Amino acid sequence: MLPLPVLERAGTEMCDANGTGQSVMEMSHRSKDFKPIIEKAEVLLRKIMVIPSNYKVLFLQGGASTQFAMVPLNLAGVEPGEKRKSASLVETGIWAKKALDEALKYADVEVRASSKDAAYNYIPAAPAPNRDDSYYYICLNNTIVGTQWDVLPETGSVPLVADISSCILSAPLDVSKFGILFAGAQKNLGPAGVTVVIIRDDLLGRAPSWTPAMLRYETHANEGSMYNTPPCYPIYIMGLVLEWVEREGGLPVIERRNREKAAFLYDYLDASALFRPVVQPLHRSIMNVPFITGNDLLDKEFLAAAEKAGLVNLAGHRLVGGIRASIYNAMPIEGVQKLVDFMKDFEARHVSR
Ligand SMILES: *Cc1c(COP(=O)(O)O)cnc(C)c1O
Repeated sequence: MLPLPVLERAGTEMCDANGTGQSVMEMSHRSKDFKPIIEKAEVLLRKIMVIPSNYKVLFLQGGASTQFAMVPLNLAGVEPGEKRKSASLVETGIWAKKALDEALKYADVEVRASSKDAAYNYIPAAPAPNRDDSYYYICLNNTIVGTQWDVLPETGSVPLVADISSCILSAPLDVSKFGILFAGAQKNLGPAGVTVVIIRDDLLGRAPSWTPAMLRYETHANEGSMYNTPPCYPIYIMGLVLEWVEREGGLPVIERRNREKAAFLYDYLDASALFRPVVQPLHRSIMNVPFITGNDLLDKEFLAAAEKAGLVNLAGHRLVGGIRASIYNAMPIEGVQKLVDFMKDFEARHVSR
């Protein structure tokens, strides 16, 4: 979901943004009309996330999936003939596994812990990095399986890298604990098409010479994300979403609401005689809540009935099945209450017989 006020404002400005007589879609990315739009997005993101001044904020394309290659290339890539570098990764789900598979093309990445043994329904204890590691990789919120890190691994001088695609702006986060943070916009920030990268200055300039210019962080850092045409319209919408976050009271308020929404749903799931949550209590995501009845056919019946009642996008990820409620920032508590009411009714119809 995107916040309704954001969509309404975008609608009003569709053909004439800020009195320019143009749609943002029509603006040249280097024009005086677009400049304040991209600048505002960066200023607001820095303010809301309290990003220290020794970090660069980049607006890139290619989605979070391109970061699965850019991170190892830039932090652990080597010149031909050089010894491969090492890195550590904790395998907490399907996105972490995808990042691993991509990284293995460029570096010796070791899986230091994994929760694969239990279908990724918990976050394993994270060992300290190996001494020579180029980076230590985690996926902070595991969108598909519904787990979330609560205590970050201690990595000392080894840069901690996190995929925060599905939890960015869901709660305050201490950016200074990380070397690189990245997020595709389409979960909590805006429409698909822009990927935010937050990178500590000292990690720029490490990519080997053969790295394509577009996949090099310093290319984009040196050009203020204008090496080539950035995704102008998604950046504009992201700016509106950031204004909305600020108006709502910033991340402490957003976090309180997200915790309230998640607790409402988990409390019902824990008490339900029909539905059950799949993730262990300590590691439950406040953004993605997967659950099942234990009967695939009944799950499907529930999904079809829910859709008829106007409750959409509830199917679990195609790789795991089941049911998943994604309750991103823009989902109001009323939406979660409606879902729980519907589930209670469905439960009453299916358990008593
Ligand atoms: C959605 C998602 C991705 C994939 O993002 P794309 O922008 O489609 O590449 C990667 N990681 C996480 C945690 C996600 O939730």
